[in-house]
Parts: sequence; C-alpha cells; structure tokens
Amino acid sequence: MKVVKKVNEMSKISSSLITKGFVLGLVPTMGYLHEGHLSLVRLAKSQCQKLAMSIFVNPTQFGPREDFEKYPSDFEGDYSKAIKEGVDYIFLPTDKEMYGTDYRTFVEVSKLSSIMCGRSRPGHFKGVCTVVLKLFNIIKPRRAYFGQKDYQQVVIIKKMVEDLNLSLDIVSCPTVREKDGLALSSRNKYLSTEERKSAAELYRHLNLASGMIGKGERDLGKIEKIITGNLKKVKHIKKVDYFDLRDPVSLKELKHAGGSGQKILAAAAVWIGGTRLIDNIIIKI
Ligand code: AMP
Repeated sequence: MKVVKKVNEMSKISSSLITKGFVLGLVPTMGYLHEGHLSLVRLAKSQCQKLAMSIFVNPTQFGPREDFEKYPSDFEGDYSKAIKEGVDYIFLPTDKEMYGTDYRTFVEVSKLSSIMCGRSRPGHFKGVCTVVLKLFNIIKPRRAYFGQKDYQQVVIIKKMVEDLNLSLDIVSCPTVREKDGLALSSRNKYLSTEERKSAAELYRHLNLASGMIGKGERDLGKIEKIITGNLKKVKHIKKVDYFDLRDPVSLKELKHAGGSGQKILAAAAVWIGGTRLIDNIIIKI
C-alpha cells in the first residue's frame, strides 16, 4: 500500500492505472477509520481492481464553530486497518495541497443543500461537493463509495454527478451499527459513557416512527411532532436539529404516507452534549 501526499503524484498514478485498464475505486474518508468505513472498502474491493482511499479532514465543510480543529485522527491506526483490507493507495493531502493559498472555486447543489443538515450547517454541502469533485478529478475513479449513514450527502453527490455529467458510478453502502443500534461514527469518540447510552435512542426513535407507520398512522406531520417531542425528553439530548420524514429520492417533505410499497426516509440530527449525531432509516410500507 502506497501513501500519496501530492495531488500531481496521485493524478499520475491513477492515470497510469486507468491506461493499463484497471477499474479504479475510491473511498473518500476523513480518517479515524471504523467498521463503517471498512465496509465501504470491502464492497469496493469486491467491485474494483485497484482501490484508493482518501483521508482528508476537509476544512471547507466545517462551519466556524464546528469541530474541525478537534476532529479525531489516528493515522497509524488507519494505515494498519487500510493495509489489512487491501487498500492500494491512501491519498493523504494537506489542506495547502488541496486548496493552495488563493482558493476560489466552489460547487453547490442548490435546494438539496439547504434542507435537513444544510439548515443548521450552512455551507457544509458546498464544502463536501467541492472536495468530492476535486477528489474525482484527481483520482478519476470508475466507482466511488459512500455510506447511507450520510444519506443526504449521497443524494447530493449523485445529483452533482448527474448534473455535471461526471462519468463514474456512485455506490451507496448500508449503515454499520453497534449492537444497540448506534451508527458507527468517528464522532462517537466525543461521547461520555453516559452520553453514549443516550446516543442509541436516536436509532430507537427512528424505528419508533417506523412502528407508528406500521400500525397504520398516515399523518406524518403528527409522527414528526411526537418523535421530536420524545427525543427532546431523552437524557443528554440537548437539541433536536430535525426529525424529518421525506421522500428518499427527492428528499421532499412528505405530509402523508401513501399505500403499500412506498418508501419513506426517516432522518434525524440531535445534539448529545456537545456532539452532533445524525442517523436515518428507510421505512418500507
Ligand atoms: P467520514 O470519514 O465520516 O467522512 O465518512 C467517510 C465515509 O464513510 C462516508 O461515505 C460515510 O457515509 C461513510 N460512513 C461513516 N460511518 C458509516 C457507517 N456507520 N456505516 C457505513 N458507512 C459509514
């Protein structure tokens, strides 16, 4: 496994792999790898002949009061996990390597970027799309792998790929969870033992919404209100940024559930102490 820190070198390596006919996959990450990241790597390994993983804590997707400065990192741990999974290249650029000193160009997928997480994190998806497009241009993968854990992110990236006629496939991968349902996340490291117990309530409440729909409730506004109210009462949950029931493809808000076969995205973001956690499930009627 080779660690590549320079954009030019990474670009040359991937061009040469493509010329040789290899199907190149990319798993973009911010590092501090866990089983969620590794599940993406495993799927990518099964579908691609060569695999690059990027590790880059992207400054442009963090707001001024967010956790950019304290985002967890453990390159040694990441290196040994990646090598074990058969990653071929780790692309590990610095901020300066990616953005230079006079960076000015940004990509934004309008509308989709200002709902849900975009409401409380203005500019977040603009930063995500910009860095992801840069990674696509540098590495030129045939397939790129993203987790459904960040559901809105996958929808937005797919839209960017469609709108900008990028020629690669976006593969979305199921959320990997702890035994009690908590979605794995690098940010779980911030949780105290007590907060960690409450964190599992997020997934439980998504399933409560599913249960209500299963029992025949069709008024989704009512479900949103009840679940939001219940989440607010959970110990250590300081704030519910949103609990939304939406169309999983368009991300449009749904007011009423339809008939059997319909799929509904239940997605939420909550603050547990000083940590913002997100999660989602797809409810099938
Ligand atoms: P991050 O390092 O948090 O930016 O995540 C890198 C990629 O891993 C993103 O596509 C995430 O959606 C994905 N990912 C993070 N956590 C999980 C998880 N628990 N299960 C599946 N994929 C995940």
